[in-house]
Amino acid sequence: MKALLISALIILASGCNAVKNQDSAQKESTPETYANTITAEELKTHLYQFADDKMEGRMTGTDGQKMAAEYLRNFYMDEEIQAPVEKNNYYQPIPAEYFTRAQNPLPSENVVAFIKGSEKPDEIIVLSAHYDHVGMENGEIYNGADDDGSGTVSMLEIAQAFQTAVKNGQGPKRSILFLHVTGEEIGLYGSRYYTENPIFPLENTVANLNTDMIGRIAPEKKENPNYIYLIGSDKLSQGLHDLSERVAEQYSDLELDYTFNDENDPNRFYYRSDHYNFAKNNIPIIFYFNGVHEDYHKPTDTPDKIEYELMEKRAKLIFHTAWEIANQEERITADKL
Ligand SMILES: [Zn+2]
Repeated sequence: MKALLISALIILASGCNAVKNQDSAQKESTPETYANTITAEELKTHLYQFADDKMEGRMTGTDGQKMAAEYLRNFYMDEEIQAPVEKNNYYQPIPAEYFTRAQNPLPSENVVAFIKGSEKPDEIIVLSAHYDHVGMENGEIYNGADDDGSGTVSMLEIAQAFQTAVKNGQGPKRSILFLHVTGEEIGLYGSRYYTENPIFPLENTVANLNTDMIGRIAPEKKENPNYIYLIGSDKLSQGLHDLSERVAEQYSDLELDYTFNDENDPNRFYYRSDHYNFAKNNIPIIFYFNGVHEDYHKPTDTPDKIEYELMEKRAKLIFHTAWEIANQEERITADKL
């Protein structure tokens, strides 16, 4: 309803001169205006491509992973979202030798894109999701639609939402790095490589929001599916945790479920995805996760099983949280250390 009202206002204003027009568009644009560019339909279109059989399960170092990396790079180029350092250089290459525990080590790359902050460009928020998966076995393709196609395409839509704000003169005050990491499944390699070879100094890295599996409903939540598991938000920073809760209260009807945030939870998810490499460097993190399900790490993790409306809500929550971290006056710090 809000979006409709905004378009009506823009149409009403269209009789005025161009400058006034832009002013009124800005005045009426809220974070929700940009969040509303994240749609279930676009997430679905991306994911059917990204988790297609032609990607062959996107195993680190294979042709399928290279094709997936190209998909991401082409998206950012089309959206005119820049590479962080050098024009059109969206890859952070990682040599084969780095993947020490891989059975057949091959070179790979993280894929990176960047939106420069308008007021505090040196302060960086890192959004991360791993884009490769476990490949093929006995001729069967492990599509990894949820793991982590869901996080990957959500990041594309989040990047597009921020870029829409940039084009409307409302870009984020702090900078945002979109970090698509490689080698997660074989040992969190891409995120470790990034934190050992950071493009921007870690001391200027304000927070990391990591998304790994946000397209499904875990069996234990079937009765109450309007949720997202949050892990780690209060471990290093009360400021981040409070911000996250405030944003969810204001912009989302999702239940934030902290079951797996318990120190004594035997699953130890806090240590099991890419955010951990940031957390161990004392950078506050939040890990967004739907829990495991019957198709986890199986060839049946396919895009037809994704809950796109729910994924849209989760992606919007992450967008709003990143928006607030990027724009609030005070910088998030590891205030619990
Ligand atoms: Zn994963």
